[in-house]
Amino acid sequence: MPRRAVVIGGSMGGLLAAAFLQRIGWEVDVYERTADDLATRGAGLGTHEALLEGLRALGIDTGERLGVLVRDRVCLDRAGDVIARRTLPQVMTHWARIYEGLRPLVDRAHFHAGRSFTRWRQTGAEVVAQFDDGSEAAGDLLIAADGLRSTIRPQLEPQAQPRYAGYIGWRGTVMGIDLPRDYYFGLPRGEMMLTYPVPTGEWNFVWYRPTSEHELADLCTDASGCCHGNAIAPPLIRPELVARLKRDAHELLAPQLAFIIERSQPFFQAIFDLESPRVAHGRVVLLGDSAFVARPHVGMGVTKASLDARCLARSIELAGDDLDASLERYNRMRCEFGRWCVNRSRSIGAYIEQRAVADPARVLSDVGAVRAEIAITY
Ligand SMILES: Cc1cc2nc3c(=O)[nH]c(=O)nc-3n(C[C@H](O)[C@H](O)[C@H](O)COP(=O)(O)OP(=O)(O)OC[C@H]3O[C@@H](n4cnc5c(N)ncnc54)[C@H](O)[C@@H]3O)c2cc1C
Repeated sequence: MPRRAVVIGGSMGGLLAAAFLQRIGWEVDVYERTADDLATRGAGLGTHEALLEGLRALGIDTGERLGVLVRDRVCLDRAGDVIARRTLPQVMTHWARIYEGLRPLVDRAHFHAGRSFTRWRQTGAEVVAQFDDGSEAAGDLLIAADGLRSTIRPQLEPQAQPRYAGYIGWRGTVMGIDLPRDYYFGLPRGEMMLTYPVPTGEWNFVWYRPTSEHELADLCTDASGCCHGNAIAPPLIRPELVARLKRDAHELLAPQLAFIIERSQPFFQAIFDLESPRVAHGRVVLLGDSAFVARPHVGMGVTKASLDARCLARSIELAGDDLDASLERYNRMRCEFGRWCVNRSRSIGAYIEQRAVADPARVLSDVGAVRAEIAITY
């Protein structure tokens, strides 16, 4: 009888966990709350060699359709002149391109969309997941790949709460930008705007802006006066907030960068840090964003999910039948790496939190250095 895993969350972390476990002979079922196709969402992201290597190990083509190679990081001042440059080739991709490669690796019979997990129970060596429609699924292992707002983590680690970093990232993708294919930065005081091309032909941008909790509540309030907490669906963002962002772009950013904001339909996300003291509890493991979330400056979200998934499969392979020993190895290695990611990204974002002036050469070198520092351990 093959071992069975129940995975909660059918985004990157859940699909990667399923794909790597299937490769070592496990039977895996993935349960995703969202009923519609996730591929229609998402924007740009940077890759690391560890991610590309993991995708290739799963048989996914990492050629031109997946990513655009950018060569230089370039910082522009308010006038649009280059004030710092650093050569550091990196493949930039689009969330949907990775998702489209991963999704077919879990067949339809084992991918259950529109199923929302509520709780679990462990009886002996078996874990049983329960869903809001009253149904259940049993396995040897329950994998929480249910993201930053995990339903499972608070039941295991109530003290591991996302901590707001004090700033948000306005994001979007824009067609029709005629710039050399580099990775651009603009650094107004206490802020960071960056933009790069992605393989859909668009340019992806993120503009980090200090935002108090009070201001965040206002940004998350729709035109009818309803506050949606610390996130709001893009169509509900009040038009005057977008108009203000575009005005600010012309005032604070290089004309080339302001043009991108001007052409966009931006949305935003609040930036959080999350650290879990442990990522394995009995036969339940946390993986991807449910375990650790580092600020996006290290561009590590999908790479970390991939390394988590690979480490889980490898730990199981190494320990043979001893699932407890393999989960202990997983716990040790992923906590170490997760903490490193959170600390590294926190130090890069510290000047935004403090609303301080950035040193352009330092920002380019810090963001670049992360790529060389990643320990590809799994
Ligand atoms: C639609 C989407 C688009 C994204 N786009 C980008 C992007 O453009 N750039 C970027 O850097 N990162 C993006 N991310 C985040 C990125 O995927 C993660 O940072 C990283 O890949 C780790 O992924 P994860 O699977 O651990 O968490 P997530 O990607 O957050 O996925 C968690 C999944 O769990 C599901 N879920 C949550 N609770 C339950 C429950 N109770 N029952 C069942 N399912 C549940 C959610 O619906 C979600 O699909 C996106 C995430 C999503 C979901």
